Amino acid sequence: MAVVRMDGVEQTVSNIFCIGRNYAAHVAELGNQLEEEPLVFLKPTSALSLNGQDIALPTYSNDVHHECELVLLIGKGGHDIPVADALSHIAGVGIGLDLTARDVQSEAKKGGKPWTKAKGFRHAASVSDFVAVSHVDVSRPFSFSLQVNGETRQQGDTSLMLYPLATIISYLSQTYGLTAGDLIYTGTPQGVAALQAGDVLHLQLDGVVSADWTVAA
Ligand code: MG
Repeated sequence: MAVVRMDGVEQTVSNIFCIGRNYAAHVAELGNQLEEEPLVFLKPTSALSLNGQDIALPTYSNDVHHECELVLLIGKGGHDIPVADALSHIAGVGIGLDLTARDVQSEAKKGGKPWTKAKGFRHAASVSDFVAVSHVDVSRPFSFSLQVNGETRQQGDTSLMLYPLATIISYLSQTYGLTAGDLIYTGTPQGVAALQAGDVLHLQLDGVVSADWTVAA
């Protein structure tokens, strides 16, 4: 059973939804087009890696990129959630990595194949502890960052999202339904790049929570 921690208590994870291409500068850096509706993919819960664990990169890729993202933990599930009510379905917020085998993803894109091997390997869904909404106002914008070996690689600001948090929640609830314990990776800002064995990663969400991983040698 896959779990995350929120305020020191384990929470069972249901589904892991991820939003792609949600920041214009990142869409541009990979040469992709803007989407007319949120671009959604899934990761298996076996891809989770919690704060403090080592990240093992898959041996079948030579180009695993970090994608630093705000992550939501859903508290109350539902279908057809109105945008106006959407934020009330969030239980907590965290910060995580949507690790992506870019070489494998590029081949999948060319062949029209699914992204699962590029996005769903063990440790591909690294995530911090979550902080409950009773301690943090989720209606405000969040800034977040990733440092690799002490150097800032990615800096994000949720006010720059193409599809804001409430829109994402409402959209997922209409199309798939949301369940208590679902995680939502909300998209990465620009600055994605390859990880190397031994890299030390520090993620920080606006003074709310931070997380650290080391890439296994
Ligand atoms: Mg991503």
